[in-house]
Amino acid sequence: MKYRSLLVLMLTGALAFSSLFTTTAIASEAAKPSAIAKSAQAAVSTKKLQSIYSRNKALYDSAEYKSRIAAITAQNSEFYIKDIDENLFARINGKSYKENCVVPLEDLKYIHVLHKDINGNIHKGEMICNIYIAADVLEIMKALYDQGYPIERMQLIDDFNADDELSMESNNSSSFNFRFISHTNKVSKHGLGLAVDINTLYNPYIKQVNGKTIIEPLTAGAYVDRTKSFAYKIDTADTCYKLFSSKGFEWGGNWKSVKDYQHFEVSDKTLAVLYPDNK
Ligand SMILES: [Zn+2]
Repeated sequence: MKYRSLLVLMLTGALAFSSLFTTTAIASEAAKPSAIAKSAQAAVSTKKLQSIYSRNKALYDSAEYKSRIAAITAQNSEFYIKDIDENLFARINGKSYKENCVVPLEDLKYIHVLHKDINGNIHKGEMICNIYIAADVLEIMKALYDQGYPIERMQLIDDFNADDELSMESNNSSSFNFRFISHTNKVSKHGLGLAVDINTLYNPYIKQVNGKTIIEPLTAGAYVDRTKSFAYKIDTADTCYKLFSSKGFEWGGNWKSVKDYQHFEVSDKTLAVLYPDNK
């Protein structure tokens, strides 16, 4: 890429980013007839959902909520939560945070953790999820790490160009990836960062359609039979299942019509309270 086009891209990204926060910047940029201003304008034309952070500032800025996070960080400084800053936004913009994303950026949090693979090797892990579950996820990841629970890979899905299939085939654990539920204007739970997928290759999504078995990822055929025993398998006796369940998450492995063994999510009831305008 030529330097000039890179610079324009960076400027466009920076403007789009700042315009998410300041309406005054939008107004002044809109007056300029440049391509950069038009791009910034387009980025804010998507109507955002009502922010749960804005509506519950007292809760999320409370000493109690912050102390939960601080308690984990105090035990190991590699476990922490931060806002989606400019550098992070540059990583997710146009990937998991797609152009038509209606999720307020302030509702998303970046989580940094350590995790161990099946051989006990320690890796740095990253995840973006909703502020509503951020403290829970940090606590769960710390408990999993302490107990030596194996998680092979935890990278932002943006490292896979926000491609779910590629991420799952790499056994990547992740949460936020913006999307609407097919043929609706309703944002999915992953689209809101309210669902978490763990060890995705070994815990596939399985659906029966007209006698045919559909598997995601496509390469997970060996892990469809859940009576077999293999590494990274999630079942109801599993530590990961127990930790997520203890915090009120629902597990896709308990669903009837489809099975989603990698998937933990907040309930529909909770979702309706958090985002009443998500319809
Ligand atoms: Zn999922």
